[in-house]
Order: sequence, then structure tokens, then C-alpha cells
Amino acid sequence: MKLNRRNFLGTGGLALLGASLSGVSCSEPSGASAGNAAGTFQPEGWKKLLQEANKYPKLDAHNHIWEGSNADQINESCELLGITRAACSIPGGKTPEAIRANNDAIIKGMKAYPQRIMGQCYIDPRFKKEALEEIDRCVDQGMVMLGELYDSVRISDPLYYPIVERCIKHRIPMMLHGVTTLGNWRPGYLPTNPPNSSLPDDFVEIGNRYPEAMIICGHIGGGGNWEYMCRVLQHAPSVFLDTSGSVSDEGMIDMAVQYLGVDRLLFATDMNYETGVGKIMWANLTESDRKKVFFENFNNLLRKAGNHVN
Ligand SMILES: [Zn+2]
Repeated sequence: MKLNRRNFLGTGGLALLGASLSGVSCSEPSGASAGNAAGTFQPEGWKKLLQEANKYPKLDAHNHIWEGSNADQINESCELLGITRAACSIPGGKTPEAIRANNDAIIKGMKAYPQRIMGQCYIDPRFKKEALEEIDRCVDQGMVMLGELYDSVRISDPLYYPIVERCIKHRIPMMLHGVTTLGNWRPGYLPTNPPNSSLPDDFVEIGNRYPEAMIICGHIGGGGNWEYMCRVLQHAPSVFLDTSGSVSDEGMIDMAVQYLGVDRLLFATDMNYETGVGKIMWANLTESDRKKVFFENFNNLLRKAGNHVN
């Protein structure tokens, strides 16, 4: 079965979703999940699609160790989908102590699966001194970047300046939860983003202030207006965009390529493994573009500090 723009999500993605969520072996599709949108049952189809997707080594730039997504499960999901390594974080913590405890849980995951799990250090810029100390501690412990920095402070706020400068010094990327407040049209999704959430415009501002930084805007598919995100981020040529999130609208990745260029897109799942892979397979990319998005672009960022995968 030839892989086309739609059928990965129509068959392989859904079959895999059923397999991974139910914990069943990937060797046999369940009858309920292996049909495609047109209703044609193709028992071998999804296996071929998976083989096609698994041809590409992948680095996941945005993932989490979370309740219901522990290191064992991350390892298993990555194995099924050919994801070589996943960069994981636990965003949150109301005190410096709580934040350190969350980062320690990531370090534990890195130690459990050193070939699979890369650490993202979470900090809150409002704890000025502790945040810088925590970055240094996490880098010492082998973490490869900052992430997923959240919505306590906008990335354009001067509180972020010393954080960005410390990342430049360590030559590590930083990934931050990006939102769009325009066009929140999805049912049940209201424009209730906290006031300090970072908009694409905030990424443009910080990117232009620190063009040498490796700043990643999190999840184009996180909900909201991804068209707006693409249109605005084109004005920040040094800012990267990760492809994760549960939204996989037709044309989303294609528009990101058109506006940002393929070199600025980083494959990621944010725990949406099948749609994460499916949306890249689905997009109208050349073979070499897919390799860039799935692996090379992020690996080139990791290379700056010697944290790349050979
Ligand atoms: Zn997020």
C-alpha cells in the first residue's frame, strides 16, 4: 500500500493508537481499529504504513514524564514508532524545592533509559537566583535543554533575559509553551490562556533580541490558531517551532514549512505519539525534508553542546 497524505492517520495511526493505548502487542491489529476512513479493511495496510514511518529515525523535541506517561511507557511508545530519543520534562512546581523534585524525577528517567530519554530542565524565571542555579545543576546532570517552560512569565519579559543568556552560555536550546489566543474555535476550547502565556509575537520579540539563542516555540498543534502562529513566527528567523500537540489539521505542517522553512521545524509529540508521527508522514514533504524534520534539525541544535545522537 502506497503511503499517501491521508492514509497514515486513517489507518496506521488509528490502529497504533488502539494498540498502544490498550497495551496490546503491535503484532496484530484489532479489528475495530484497523479500518480506514472509507471503511475498507486492510489488515496488512497499517503494518506497511508503520514500516514506512519507521524508516525514519526520529528525535522527539517535546515530551513529558507525567502521570500516566512514565519512563517505561515512553520507552515502549518510542520503540514502536521508531523514535530514537525523546526530550522530556515535568513543567510545574510552585516553589524552587518542588521544581527541583520534578527535575529530579526527569533525571531518574534519564538514568533508567539513557539511550532513550533526554532531560529538559524546567525552571520558573520568577525565582531568579534559584532558576539560574537549577539550570547549571541540570546541565551538570546531563540535561540537554530547557523545557517545557510554561506560562508564569512571558518569554519576552525581561525576567527571561538572564535565563536566555545562561542557555546561550551552555549552548543549549530552550523550549517554551506557545499559545495563540486568536481563533480558539475548537469546541470546548475557550480563550482562557493565563495572561502571561507566550504568544507568537513574544517569541518574535525575544528571538530578535537574542538571535544566537536556540528558542523553540512549543506545539504548533497545541490548540488555537496555527495559521496565525506561522504568519507571525516568520518574522523571527532564529526561532524554531515544534510540530507536537493533539491538533493535526490538514495543511498545518505544510503551512509551517511554507512560512518558516523546513529547517526551523522540529518533530515532537507532546505525548501524542501516533498523530505526532502521522502528521509529518501526512505532510507534503520530500524525503530529505522529512529527515530534517524528524531528526536532523533537532540533532543540529543538540550538537552545539555535544549532546547530539551519532
Ligand atoms: Zn505546552
